[in-house]
Amino acid sequence: MIAAVDIGGTKIAVGMVDDDGRLLARLETPTDADLGYAKALDRTADLLRQVARSTGAEIAGIGIGSTGPVDPFTGEIGDVNFLPGWQGSPIVEDLGRLFRVKVAMENDADAAALGESGWGAGKNKTRLIYITVGTGIGGGIILDGKLYRGVDHAHPEIGHHVIDVSGPACLCGFHGCWESLASGPAMAEWMKAESPPNYRHRENLSAKRICELAQSGDALARRAVEREAYYLGLGLANLVVLYTPDAIVLGGSVMKSAHLFLEGIRKAIAESCRYVPFEKTELALASLGEDANLIGAARVWHHRFASGGQSDH
Ligand SMILES: [Zn+2]
Repeated sequence: MIAAVDIGGTKIAVGMVDDDGRLLARLETPTDADLGYAKALDRTADLLRQVARSTGAEIAGIGIGSTGPVDPFTGEIGDVNFLPGWQGSPIVEDLGRLFRVKVAMENDADAAALGESGWGAGKNKTRLIYITVGTGIGGGIILDGKLYRGVDHAHPEIGHHVIDVSGPACLCGFHGCWESLASGPAMAEWMKAESPPNYRHRENLSAKRICELAQSGDALARRAVEREAYYLGLGLANLVVLYTPDAIVLGGSVMKSAHLFLEGIRKAIAESCRYVPFEKTELALASLGEDANLIGAARVWHHRFASGGQSDH
């Protein structure tokens, strides 16, 4: 059984995942990034021993999905906003030494893409793009069953392609990139800016709340949902035009309300992808649920080390 580690800015989750992608045990700890990498490593190792004990299984390998950037081949954490001071920490080497097994790491969006591709909604699709829409927009590209990598193993940032140059500024350097227009926070910011001062739902607006309001008939929330569907659709249409994949798998917290957006998304794709067989690209919803990142982390190990893996890259 493969042990999985999902490293996020707020928590680190660990679990045991069998060869069919079933998560058999799960524990988590706050990341507490400010306390430093060494302490987080100790706590992660403790939890790994606990989940292994609880399933009665040996850890045969460890897969890691981490908030990025990470270097998948040196196995080091990069310059991550949420993990100050952790840059260069050799987590792959450290866990490998502690548990005496092979360890592999990918960016968490790539890990989730591998999970959905191997065990989830993208199973048996050779050309697959996974997109997660939540506090940001991220994704991973699978071609012929292998993770696509850029130069020097770079992870392409699908969420930061430009949709509207007159849009909001983003840390990526662009104005109006996809994430700045269609992430959960972008949805809330737009609605706040559009709402009159006396709008009674003005405080604590989130993508989730807006979707609830839209379903209960709130006119402004419905406009926010329409706008979200339009921008999601433009970004996805760009991916269909550029890649025409077998499937695009949609995950992340905003996609829990996908039923509100799918019609608008399909309309945007149908209106703008006429040069490619867009109707053949399946739009699927992620099927691994809340633990997609953790299950994906285990799949990172299989992708790297199981037969036909990417160990030579
Ligand atoms: Zn951006």
